[in-house]
Amino acid sequence: MSDYKLLINGELVAGDLSMDVVNPATEQVLSACPRASEAQLDQAVAAARAAFPAWSAQSIDARKAVVAQIADLIEANAQELAQLLTQEQGKPLADAMGEVYGTAAFFRYFLSLDLPVKVIEDSEGKLIEAHRRPLGVVGAIVPWNFPMILMAFKLPPALIAGNTVVLKPAPTTPLTSLKLGELIRDVVPAGVVNIITDANDLGAPLTAHPDVAKVSFTGSTATGSKVMAGAAGLLKRITLELGGNDAGIVLDDVDPKEVAPKLFNSAFQNSGQVCIAMKRLYVHESIYDEVCDELTAIANDTVVGDGLQQGTKLGPLQNRMQFEKVQELIKDAAQHGTISAGGEVMDQPGYFIRPTIVRDITDGTRLVDEEQFGPVLPVIKYSDYDDVVARANASPYGLGGSVWAKDLDRAYALASKLESGTVWINQHADLNPAVPFGGAKQSGLGTELGEEGLAEFTQLRVISMVRG
Ligand code: NAD
Repeated sequence: MSDYKLLINGELVAGDLSMDVVNPATEQVLSACPRASEAQLDQAVAAARAAFPAWSAQSIDARKAVVAQIADLIEANAQELAQLLTQEQGKPLADAMGEVYGTAAFFRYFLSLDLPVKVIEDSEGKLIEAHRRPLGVVGAIVPWNFPMILMAFKLPPALIAGNTVVLKPAPTTPLTSLKLGELIRDVVPAGVVNIITDANDLGAPLTAHPDVAKVSFTGSTATGSKVMAGAAGLLKRITLELGGNDAGIVLDDVDPKEVAPKLFNSAFQNSGQVCIAMKRLYVHESIYDEVCDELTAIANDTVVGDGLQQGTKLGPLQNRMQFEKVQELIKDAAQHGTISAGGEVMDQPGYFIRPTIVRDITDGTRLVDEEQFGPVLPVIKYSDYDDVVARANASPYGLGGSVWAKDLDRAYALASKLESGTVWINQHADLNPAVPFGGAKQSGLGTELGEEGLAEFTQLRVISMVRG
């Protein structure tokens, strides 16, 4: 039996069903885990609905005090949460610690925001105000690559705005979320936060539930499209943070030795399982060979292993399905390019793939056109700047992108032409809770983080009064 429990209506309860959570570094069962039934999903939504009137009637400062206590609890239990995160997700312990402390910091950032009434007109004859009202019950759905920090994009703004929440982590990484439920149970009023788990079967009913007012979803584009369809019947509010195929463009004036470690980290952090990882790298022909050689050398030097072992830089893929998908993409890429580093699965238990560099490959191949979401980077040669911009933009995705150059004016001009939600210059995947984040095209709908991210959890209500 598992020590983990669901959090429903302020109670830690056993799941009606059960499932195993596997450690991706060993392929051994890490823990049994409760799995909610559809009846328990209904109970969680009912609890959130019942808690909404009192919670939304509190002052924003009272709600912030609860969010601050959650941040304190995350920090006070950082070691235990990080250890668990490494074991269920696979990432190295230092990265897991970074994610857990980052989660607390993201919670705290939202304490700095308010939802003041905006006075549009205050004249002798008229008063017009814009108010931001909470929506009701929010369904928060999270994927398996960053179970903690992606939850922190949703929970604090939803709560501060006055909503109540049903949180559903991914089936393969539910334990840190359940641990969080156990930690916060005594500081959050009953029903305000509910945490349930599933085997990929409760996302759809949560999305379509008549008492859920908004769905805040992070995951793949294919599932995001299902969420949009599921929410359409009742015209629910949705925020979708979806897949990406971020291009990095390296101009001809960079020093390959200097830039290569930054490029490598941008692509391979979290073993490439990052929505905003650099997923295709375009390098100018004049420095193409040198950049490929540098990346190859770094990849060959990288220590891959169990995230709990000291010195590990990259952990395993998070789950078998992703492990198999990435292997398939590498096999296909070998037909169209040259594998200069990695390419092989490690001869040991665990979903390990060594960091893989594929050079002499170009657009029109699966590895370049699809989202690999794993430790393999295609490096593509280009010669013309307009052409490389067109190639970077010729994707259904538009999450992030980056330009790397010494000449910042040239880099800025090129960056301005990229069709993505964020464009970085001389960096990639830099996230800051104060900076709004969202995808263009099929990478998403709406915004998270920043003031805009808080506003997404509200309904605008205008009051317009004639005086006298
Ligand atoms: P996924 O879409 O398979 O699953 C995400 C979540 O959706 C899980 O909790 C899953 O149980 C749930 N789900 C499954 N079916 C559902 C349905 N019909 N309705 C509602 N929810 C459902 O994604 P994944 O494989 O866990 O995550 C990887 C993907 O997430 C990648 O494409 C990655 O780029 C993307 N991602 C995007 C961002 C971003 O902010 N844009 C961040 C991280 C990951």
